[in-house]
Amino acid sequence: MDKLKNRIINCKRCRLSENSKRPLPGEGAISSKIMLITLSPSKHDDERQKVLAGKDGRILDKLFKSIGINRNFFYITNLLKCVLLIKNPKEEQVLKCMPFLEEEIKIIRPSVLVPIGEYVWKYIFRKYGIKLTYKSKEEIIGNLVMVKNIKILPLRSLDLTSGNKELLAEYYKLKVLLKECKWFSVCPMKRFYEQGKLDKKWIEKYCKGDWSSCVRYRMEERGEYHPDSMLPDGTIRK
Ligand code: SF4
Repeated sequence: MDKLKNRIINCKRCRLSENSKRPLPGEGAISSKIMLITLSPSKHDDERQKVLAGKDGRILDKLFKSIGINRNFFYITNLLKCVLLIKNPKEEQVLKCMPFLEEEIKIIRPSVLVPIGEYVWKYIFRKYGIKLTYKSKEEIIGNLVMVKNIKILPLRSLDLTSGNKELLAEYYKLKVLLKECKWFSVCPMKRFYEQGKLDKKWIEKYCKGDWSSCVRYRMEERGEYHPDSMLPDGTIRK
């Protein structure tokens, strides 16, 4: 990782380096299973040479505080390592910078990628060959997608125009992903999986992924009856 960081901070592959004091590598827990990816450093980040050092970072820290987690649980990086002065980068700039993110992913080996903001999640979806078949952004944001042994949780950008409550609910999923479902050890889904009767994707998407979206989990919490044959998405298994 140190060698990679060194190559990043000395990079002049594209003209975006002229916008920055120095390209900014990712930071945080190298052993984290969750990697957060935002688009590019802000001017503040560049000046302080710290990821999410400005307004977005303050919003993130506030959200994390209300949720009861902090940055140290995650590795946080940018798709582009230099300041972007326009809204979206040019394709050639992304192509030149992308190998750094690829290398970070290879080193950290996260089981969950969290692209933040529409440009970044569209890029990550393309990279993993996920077709966008949704009708509205709301159908995609905050919903865990699984592909090739990796989970992807697209999140909204860190601004408060969409409302603090919505952001809080979406970012709460990061806390969910840090632990497996509390019912897992006694849940029939675990038993069925161990008996070879249930595909692993159910366990990974819900029990060891977004258990807060599991219909069984929600019913369990409300003390409502649900048959053993009910799958985490609420459908009844034949
Ligand atoms: S199926 Fe739902 S309730 Fe059961 S362990 Fe998985 S997430 Fe929890």
